[in-house]
Amino acid sequence: MILCYNFFGDNMYLENDIVKEGNEKLRVKCSKVNLPLTKDDLNCLKQLYEYVIVSANDDLVKQYKIRPGVGIAAPQVGVTKRMFAMNAEDFLDENHKRYAYAVINPVITEKSEQMVYLPGGEGCLSVDRATDNLVTPRHYAIKAKCAIYDFNTNKIKNVTMNLVGYPAIVFQHEYDHLDGIMFVDKMYKIKDLDEKILPLYTVDEDEADEACEIENN
Ligand SMILES: [Zn+2]
Repeated sequence: MILCYNFFGDNMYLENDIVKEGNEKLRVKCSKVNLPLTKDDLNCLKQLYEYVIVSANDDLVKQYKIRPGVGIAAPQVGVTKRMFAMNAEDFLDENHKRYAYAVINPVITEKSEQMVYLPGGEGCLSVDRATDNLVTPRHYAIKAKCAIYDFNTNKIKNVTMNLVGYPAIVFQHEYDHLDGIMFVDKMYKIKDLDEKILPLYTVDEDEADEACEIENN
């Protein structure tokens, strides 16, 4: 993705702008966004989008001293409106397709019966505590209707998205935020899950041990 240099504003959301677990703003059913966007709403959405774009660039993450995230929802910066940004690379797709969107008023219209979970569990910019060995079941595939803001054309488009696998999980995590739901509300030990709920991918145990060792250092 090519971004012009000016895209990054000095008023980008930073670590201190993110509200944390326990804050009541994260527990609100957010209100629908009026269109066309007000200046404040557009500014919020742009900053959310910048956050996830910057998150994918290691140098910029260091420069802005942010905790990187693949998604961030408006209530996470204290704005209780139905908007979020995501920038998820589908690492299971051979082309590593990227799903970068500034999403307004999403509605999930269809969900697969098949449920999956990320074997390493989920994370959230608003949750700082360890949630090791706990996973969150999600629908494997979803269909969603929403408006998306295109920062290249500065226009809003109404779209229907069909998402599968990792990007679908990221979308559902952010969507939940708009209803005041957090992934920690839906965490289970793998052994307690229904056997029909599958890991999104399998982890090689040797590799998993190695990853743990590196993280513990
Ligand atoms: Zn989150």
